[in-house]
Amino acid sequence: MHRHDDAIEELTRAVVRYSVERMAMETPPLDAPRTPAELQDLVGPTITAAGIGGQRALEVFADVLAPACISVDHPRFLSFVPAAPTEASMLFDLVLGASSIYAGSWLEGAGAVFAENETLGWIASLAGLPEGAGGVFVSGGTAGNLSALIAARWHWRHLADGAHDRTRGLMITSSGAHSSVAQAALAMDADVMAVPADERGRLDGAALRATVSALDPSDLDRLFAVIATSGTTNAGVIDDLASTADVCAEHQVWFHVDGAYGGAGLLAPSIRDRYDGIERADSFIVDPHKWLFAPFDSCALVYRDPTIARAAHTQHAEYLEVLQGADPLDVPWNPSDYAHHLSRRARGLPLWFSVAVHGTDAYIEAVETTLTVTREAAALVREAPHLELIMEPELSIVMFRRVGWVREQYQVWSDHQLATGQSFVTPSSWNGETILRICIVNPLTSADDVQAIVDSLREEPDG
Ligand SMILES: *Cc1c(COP(=O)(O)O)cnc(C)c1O
Repeated sequence: MHRHDDAIEELTRAVVRYSVERMAMETPPLDAPRTPAELQDLVGPTITAAGIGGQRALEVFADVLAPACISVDHPRFLSFVPAAPTEASMLFDLVLGASSIYAGSWLEGAGAVFAENETLGWIASLAGLPEGAGGVFVSGGTAGNLSALIAARWHWRHLADGAHDRTRGLMITSSGAHSSVAQAALAMDADVMAVPADERGRLDGAALRATVSALDPSDLDRLFAVIATSGTTNAGVIDDLASTADVCAEHQVWFHVDGAYGGAGLLAPSIRDRYDGIERADSFIVDPHKWLFAPFDSCALVYRDPTIARAAHTQHAEYLEVLQGADPLDVPWNPSDYAHHLSRRARGLPLWFSVAVHGTDAYIEAVETTLTVTREAAALVREAPHLELIMEPELSIVMFRRVGWVREQYQVWSDHQLATGQSFVTPSSWNGETILRICIVNPLTSADDVQAIVDSLREEPDG
C-alpha cells in the first residue's frame, strides 16, 4: 500500500490520464445529483475487507460518482458562486496532493509557506494594506470570518486589560452580510446586530453611526467589531467602506471586510474605486475558490497587524513549543498561528502557481472579462420583455424577475434546465420576492450562454 509497485504504477497512469482528460474537456457535462438510493443501486458496497481494487474504484468514480456531482466550472453553472479554476491551478493541486507537505509551521513547510506568503502579500497590496500585513489561507470564507472575528475579540479584551474577559461581545454588520457572520457569532457566543441596509442592500456610515449612537453605554462597551461586505453574495453590492471605516475609527472598533466573493474585483480597474476605504480594514478575506480562479478550498485571510492574530490563535502544548522559536521577538511565521486551525494543507499554492505562471495582468484581464459579460447579461435582461432587471449590477451578479411567475414556476424551470443539462440557475429571493440570480465568475461564460437562458424563460414551464 505504501510502496510504488507495478500495480500502483499502473494506477498512477490511469489516475493521471483521467485527470488530464477531465481538464482537456472543452465543456464538461453539467451533470446532476442522484438520490442516495439510486447511488446505492449503481455503486454497491465499495468499502470492503479485501478492497475493490484501483481500476474498479476509479471506474466507480468516473462512471457514477463524478457524474452525480454538478460541474461547478461549467460555463452555465451560474447559481450560488460558481468556480472556474485555471488549468495551472488544477494541475498544481495534483502536485500538492503528491507532495506530502505540512503547511502549519515554518519548520516543516518553509518553502510552501514562503510562496503562500508572497501570494498573500500580493492580495494585501491589492487592498492597499500596509507593509507588514499578513495572514494565512484557510478553508473558506466561513473559517476566515470566524478566525478574523476571534482575533478582533481577543484585541478588544486585551485592551480592556481583563475588564471584559467575561463580557459577552457584540458585533455589528448589515442585513446584507453573509450567513457565516451570524454563524461565527453563534460559535463565539457573541451577539450580532444588523444595521438596516439601503435600498440596494448596502451598509453605509450614516446608518451605522445612527445604530452605534443609539446603543446604551454598556452595549457600546461590548462592541468589538464591525463587519462590512465587499460585496454581498446575493446582490453583489459593496458596502460603503470608507464611511464605515470612519465610524470604526471614531469608536476604535475592529473593522473587518468580508470580500469572500467580491474581493477579487479589487483587480479590476473599471470598478476599483467602489472599494475605497478597504485599505483601512483591520482584517480582510477573499476566497480564491470563488472569483480568483483557484480550486476548492481556499480563503485568503489577511490582517493589518498579524501579531494580534498570533496572540489570539497560537496553540500552546509541550510538543509544539519547538515551533515558536527561542526569541519571542523573532517567532517564525507559522500559518497555524493565524486562524482557528493547526494542521493544514498548503492550499494557497494552486493560486500561487497559477499567478506565477500567468502573471497578475492575466488575472486583471480575466476579472474584467467576467465584468464585461455581466454588463452584457444585464443588457439582455433589460431588453427582454418577459424579464425585469432588479438593479444594475455592481459586480458580477445579475438579479431579475420573470414577469408573472411565482416560486413554483421558477423551480420547475430551474429543475428542467438542470435535468436537460442546459444550465444551473436556482431561484433566490429579494425583499421576500422569488427572483432569479446569476453569478458570473467564469471567463468562459459568454453573452450567448446568458441569451440561451433568457430565451428559455419565454415559455411557461409545463408541469
Ligand atoms: C461565500 C461567502 C462566504 C462563505 O465562504 P465559504 O468559502 O463558502 O465558507 C462568506 N462571505 C461571503 C460574502 C461569501 O460570499
